[in-house]
Amino acid sequence: MAGAAQVLFPKLRKPDEKEALRFGVHALNYRDLAAVTAGIAERVGAARRIAVWATATPETCAAVIGGLSAGAAVVPINPKVGERELAHILGDSKPELLLAPPGFQPPDGLSDVPVHEVDLSVRGGELPPEAEDDDPALIVYTSGTTGPPKGVVLPRRAIRANLDALAEAWEWTERDVLVHALPLFHVHGLILGTLGPVRLGGTVHHLGRFSSAAVAEELAGPATMMFGVPTMYHRLAEDAERDPWIGQSVGKARLLVSGSAALPAAEHERIERLTGLRVVERYGMSETIMNCGVRADGDRRPGYVGRPLAGVELKLVDEQGGEITASDDETVGEILVRGTNLFSGYLNRPDATAEAFADGWFRTGDVATRAPDGYIRIVGRKATDIIKSGGYKIGAGEIENCLLEHPAVAEVAVTGEPDADLGERIVAWIVRAPGQQVAEQELADHVARLLTPHKRPRVVRYLDALPRNEMGKVQKKALRDG
Ligand code: ATP
Ligand code: MG
Repeated sequence: MAGAAQVLFPKLRKPDEKEALRFGVHALNYRDLAAVTAGIAERVGAARRIAVWATATPETCAAVIGGLSAGAAVVPINPKVGERELAHILGDSKPELLLAPPGFQPPDGLSDVPVHEVDLSVRGGELPPEAEDDDPALIVYTSGTTGPPKGVVLPRRAIRANLDALAEAWEWTERDVLVHALPLFHVHGLILGTLGPVRLGGTVHHLGRFSSAAVAEELAGPATMMFGVPTMYHRLAEDAERDPWIGQSVGKARLLVSGSAALPAAEHERIERLTGLRVVERYGMSETIMNCGVRADGDRRPGYVGRPLAGVELKLVDEQGGEITASDDETVGEILVRGTNLFSGYLNRPDATAEAFADGWFRTGDVATRAPDGYIRIVGRKATDIIKSGGYKIGAGEIENCLLEHPAVAEVAVTGEPDADLGERIVAWIVRAPGQQVAEQELADHVARLLTPHKRPRVVRYLDALPRNEMGKVQKKALRDG
């Protein structure tokens, strides 16, 4: 029913003593959470748009849920945001109020927005009636991987429908205890990792900061599932190689989920070897929440993000916008999606919004193939990961996966750079494994032998670390721009 009010968090309207959130020693049960969010909703009052200084704290969870309960649109802000970006976000979204954790230090770039410190000991009465389904719930700023961050307006309907689709696909219920250590200002950590469990009436344990030992302890204990980004799975694998207890404990999980960036195939296999469990991969973005995911009972195939979730239609198109019907796992096309999961537009950016859609389909900018059974394999981003070299279109991801199989390679990113002869040449940015040396030629031969000669890197650059953002996404723009 379009437009009708649908309850986002049913359990907050009939709360009991069950644990809802835990951050370290600080736990809130559903009765506490309902009372705290009601208090925040009273403070938010009639404000239509509020910002939340989204530290990894229970105050942030309460502030977001309280804002949503008051019917406001919530703008979560990365607390590490720089002065200029903060001014951009506040100037763009114009919140009427900023909710912040206790002891908030107003940073440079903060405009004259009134600040209210969230106090978990302040309790309110009844939660206000639910807002309309089409009303904006969150305005999430994109990671800025490909340009300045844009405010993605997500309606309540998209959050509700997408969380329900994920719950169905992952057999995710109120009995699940989720462990995560993701930031709370992106779709992954906030919508999936926080609003998800609370919508289901389940429990979330947030670690504050990631550590393999803390994850292992949770999964050996109360936690049943983990949401992480590939860099976390990389660290889990590294630590489990040294300490088998970590692998055994992580192996007790019901479900390990990875997303936000590609989980390298080699990492997928290493996690399986060390824990006995195969990771479930899902694919999404700020504009669409989740598009695809491997189901709990599905085939967990390295390098694949599964099929479209319930409510999501997906097609692949060629450069002329023509639909690709081949399901041969070879033919590469851009992913277009439509469905209940979609955002309603970029805030104040009708130009960018119009450009992002083709006949009602959202152009993700991500490029993929489709296997005969419908499984989607992300090859990379159209803007940075498709290298046009010597008349071939080459996906960076395939070369990255191949290079990671070389024992001397710890981390890698592949980009293209202008080349008079080839159009673009393939550049491999390599972080070597500790104590390892490897010649450029050996890496080129490795790729030529395993893939095809035209996919070999022509230039190899060695780095101590790859530039990554807080989600572990490699910042290819920074690599290319030097
Ligand atoms: P911006 O849009 O500002 O450039 P961004 O696209 O990195 O930044 P997000 O919306 O946070 O910001 O990230 C979505 C992107 O992350 C997707 O478009 C896709 O490229 C990538 N991604 C997410 N999940 C996966 C996955 N499982 N495999 C590969 N890539 C993924
Ligand atoms: Mg994007």
